[in-house]
Amino acid sequence: MKHSGVTVVGGGLAGTEAALLLARNGVDVTLVEMRPERMTPAHATGDLAELVCSNSLRSDDTSTAAGLLKEEMRRLGSAVLAAADGNRVPAGTALAVDRTAFSRALTRAVEQNPHIRVERREVTQIPGEISIFAPGPLVSDALAAAVAELAGPERFFFFDAIAPIVSADSLDMERLFRGSRYGSEEGGDYLNAPMDRETYERFVKELLAAEQFVPHGFEAGQPLPLFPGCQPIEAIAITGLQSLAHGPMRPTGFAGNPLGERLHALVQLRAENETGTSFNLVGFQTRLKQGEQKRVFRMIPGLERAEFLRFGSLHRNSYIDSPRVLSKDLSFRRRPDLFAAGQFAGAEGYVESTALGLLAGLFVLARLEGREPPIPPDTTALGALLRYVTTCPTSPLEPSNIHFGLLPPGRGSGRLGKRQAVVNRARDAFSGWLAGVFRK
Ligand SMILES: Cc1cc2nc3c(=O)[nH]c(=O)nc-3n(C[C@H](O)[C@H](O)[C@H](O)COP(=O)(O)OP(=O)(O)OC[C@H]3O[C@@H](n4cnc5c(N)ncnc54)[C@H](O)[C@@H]3O)c2cc1C
Repeated sequence: MKHSGVTVVGGGLAGTEAALLLARNGVDVTLVEMRPERMTPAHATGDLAELVCSNSLRSDDTSTAAGLLKEEMRRLGSAVLAAADGNRVPAGTALAVDRTAFSRALTRAVEQNPHIRVERREVTQIPGEISIFAPGPLVSDALAAAVAELAGPERFFFFDAIAPIVSADSLDMERLFRGSRYGSEEGGDYLNAPMDRETYERFVKELLAAEQFVPHGFEAGQPLPLFPGCQPIEAIAITGLQSLAHGPMRPTGFAGNPLGERLHALVQLRAENETGTSFNLVGFQTRLKQGEQKRVFRMIPGLERAEFLRFGSLHRNSYIDSPRVLSKDLSFRRRPDLFAAGQFAGAEGYVESTALGLLAGLFVLARLEGREPPIPPDTTALGALLRYVTTCPTSPLEPSNIHFGLLPPGRGSGRLGKRQAVVNRARDAFSGWLAGVFRK
């Protein structure tokens, strides 16, 4: 079947993956990449699919969420993972690559593909034809302005401020209490970690002494976002010993807390999913190093053995508030012929960005063939990531990497048994879905 052409904006991980998927299925693609004509502050070459920082694509162990996601992507024919597998360097159970060979292999695959034409220029306007939009977290200013106009300026962000997420089954529920500030209905799902004055002050002192991630390269010296809701927790703490107790850790409005009069501060944990298997530390966006997050946040009563499904972070990242802007097939509600992919669409990380490129490619293919978009089941890693990005109720969206908290809980004994049940269920669901993905 002959398909009409598609434009892909951005030749990073997501755009390259989408372009190669479409080309494999007979679609003519124009891939527009601004490098090397115009560079981003982080990319160093004109190669497509350049890895801007680490050379690791995270764990390849399929008992981890990142490993499961990669397994599904390989089964879908991911060209990016094929290039990664072909250019692997030893890194234990992680999939690490020779970054130069990896990007060159993908650049060659794109440039030699008869269905793909590569244009090296900056896109400054939203394209008029059916397109996949994958300009990444460092989208050029002109295009960012055009997207902000399309999505609505209040739905486009230049920084992400991410709070850590912990798994529910690693929390000591005996030390936490359920309840909402002033007993409001919507807060019924909160868990609260109460602190007396001594515990609180010890916590703040450790927080201030903890080692922070030092921004390097182009991020060094970047001003932090000004809006108060996005300040890192340690930046608030430094303004005074009691600042947190009057800010994100204020204890007001909690009748019946277990500490009674001794309550001085508390940490709120908000359920991350309907099933309550993971919780977000409300207001705890942070620049602490990951090891330090573990050490200091485990001082919070009830979190002594917390398993961190996602660490907090705060960095420059242009992305859209996808749940409010996109439909479930990653197309813009205001422009259904325009699809978003990559980190720009609210994923976090190399593999997750690539995964959204793969899905956007599939959805565009279905659109061209007049089929319904093949949305993967929520019980698969791909489906869970897509669901998070397109329906997460928290606004603004906190871009996320894949973790088990995004998948519905599994039945099994112990944490490992439950995880294995989730993996087994994902594999079955994926097989059933895959059978109907491509037109026969
Ligand atoms: C500094 C930094 C370090 C990171 N480190 C890691 C890490 O170590 N591990 C990890 O998993 N993730 C990391 N990430 C996050 C993220 O996963 C990567 O940025 C990833 O490359 C995102 O893939 P993408 O395809 O969405 O965007 P990109 O790979 O950035 O691709 C977007 C492409 O669009 C092009 N483009 C932008 N604007 C235009 C325009 N107007 N016209 C035409 N082309 C345009 C860009 O040149 C780029 O090639 C990092 C991000 C940043 C910014």
